[in-house]
Amino acid sequence: MNKAVSYLMHLHDLTIKKFHDGLTNKEFTALEVAEDYFKYIDERDKEIGAYLSLMKDEALKQAEHADLTVAQGKNVGLLAGVPLAIKDNILITGQPATAASKILENYKASYDATVITNLKQAGAVFLGKTNMDEFAMGSSTENSAFQKTKNPHDLERVPGGSSGGSAAAVASHMALAALGSDTGGSIRQPASFCGVVGLKPTYGAVSRHGLIAMASSLDQIGPLTKTVEDAAIIFQALAGRDRFDSTTAETQYGDELRNPKLEDIKNMTIGLPDEYFVSGVEPAVIKEVESAINALKSLGIKFKQIKLPHTRYALACYYIIMPAEVSSNLARFDGIRYGGATGVNRRSVGLLELYKKNRSRGFGAETKRRIILGTFVLSSGYYDAYYAQAQKVRRLIKNDFDQVFKDVDVILTPVAPTPAFKFGEKTSDPLSMYLSDIFTIPANMAGLPAISIPTNSPIQKLATSKTSLPVGFQLIGKPLHEADILGIGQYYEKIANSV
Ligand code: GLN
Repeated sequence: MNKAVSYLMHLHDLTIKKFHDGLTNKEFTALEVAEDYFKYIDERDKEIGAYLSLMKDEALKQAEHADLTVAQGKNVGLLAGVPLAIKDNILITGQPATAASKILENYKASYDATVITNLKQAGAVFLGKTNMDEFAMGSSTENSAFQKTKNPHDLERVPGGSSGGSAAAVASHMALAALGSDTGGSIRQPASFCGVVGLKPTYGAVSRHGLIAMASSLDQIGPLTKTVEDAAIIFQALAGRDRFDSTTAETQYGDELRNPKLEDIKNMTIGLPDEYFVSGVEPAVIKEVESAINALKSLGIKFKQIKLPHTRYALACYYIIMPAEVSSNLARFDGIRYGGATGVNRRSVGLLELYKKNRSRGFGAETKRRIILGTFVLSSGYYDAYYAQAQKVRRLIKNDFDQVFKDVDVILTPVAPTPAFKFGEKTSDPLSMYLSDIFTIPANMAGLPAISIPTNSPIQKLATSKTSLPVGFQLIGKPLHEADILGIGQYYEKIANSV
C-alpha cells in the first residue's frame, strides 16, 4: 500500500480512545501521527479550506513531548499527543487569532485561553486555527473575511457555521477533534451539516476566558468530535471553575461522563416538543430524527410529547439580546489596538475619522449589521421596548424548560431544519440564514447543555449519493447534566454502529 493511502486510512479510523491505545501500546508515536496530519492537510485542505493558519513547529514539539512522557513510562492522560484544531476566536499564545475578521488580521494572542491551558496540561497537540464566520456571526462560514470552507460531504455546499472550519476539519480527517464556540448553534449546526458530534456545554461549565467574545451571556466553548465518547473526554478536560471567568461553576464531572450505566439510561424519559416537529422542517430531516428516536426506543427509553410554547419567540428575542451584546463587545476593535489598522494612514486623519475608517474597512457586512442593530436596541427610548422586553421573554423561555424538566430528563429535537445548503443560497436573505438556528438558539437562551449527534441510518453509511447528506439530532439536558445527553448519545452510537 502506498504511504498516502495508508496514512489516510489510519487517520480515518482514529478516535481519541483508539489514538490513546495505539500510543500507549507503542503502535505509533504522537510525532508520526502529527506528521501524517500535516501531510494530509497539505493535500486536502487546498480543496476544503478548513484552516486559516497552521502551527506545525509547535505541534511537532508538543507531539515529541507526549512521546517522551510515554517513553519514560509515565502515566499519560487520554489527551496526550491528541492532534486538535482550534477555532480562530480562541487564543493561543503567540498565534494569530483573527476571528476571521480583517480588523484582527495582524493580531497575535498574548495569552492562552483557559481551555487551551487545560488542554496543554492534558498534553494535547494543536495543529492550527480554523476558519469561521467573522466574530462567529453566521451559519455557513461564508461570513469569513478570508476564505470559503467547503463541506467535505459535498463541495458545493457549506459546512455550516460559525464553527465551519472546525467541523469540516474533523469530518475530513484533518484533525482528530476540534474546539468551536456556540452562541446560538455554532457548534451544533456545523456538526449536523458535516456529520460529526458537537457539544455545547451548560453556560458556565467551561471558561470563556480567552474566547473573543460575541455575546457574553450566550457564548460557550465546546468540542467537535467523531464520537460522543470523544466529546465527553474533551469536555471533561475543559470544564471547571476558572478565576478569570466569574460565570464559571464549581463542577465535578467524573467518570459517569464516559461510562454511563445502561440501567440509568433505560430509566430516562425523553421529551419531544411539538414546536420542533413542524412543517418548515425538511421531510428528510424528520425521517432521520425519527430513525434516531426509534433506535432509542429499542433501548427501552420512554418518550413523551411536551410543549415549549415560548420557543416561537426565541429567534426574535435572540436577535435583540445577541446584537446588543455584540455591539458592546465589538466596541473595543478600533483598528489601533490588537495588531493595528487596516491600511488607513493615522496621521492623515483625525481620531474620530480614523476610528470610522478602520471600522468601516475592518468589519464585514454582517458584523456591521449586528453592531447597528445592537446599538439601536440599546439606545435611549428603545431600550425598554426592545432590550428590556427581550430579557423578560428570555426568562419565559427558560421557565418553559424548567417546567418541562420536572417531567422529562432530556429533550430531543432536530438540530436544523435542513441539511447543508449550497453556497450563496442564503447570503442575500439574512432572515432565511437566521432561521437555520431556530432549534439551537433556545438552549443558549436558557443556558442548557445540548449536543448534536449524526443519525446513522444505513442510507447515510453509503454516503455517496447526493441524498445522503449528514443530518444530526439534538439532545438538550438539564443544567450541568451533560452526563445525561452524553450517556444517551453513547448508547445511541452503539446501536447505530451495530446496524
Ligand atoms: N448562527 C448564529 C448567529 O449567526 C449563531 C452563531 C453562533 O452560535 N456563534 O448568530
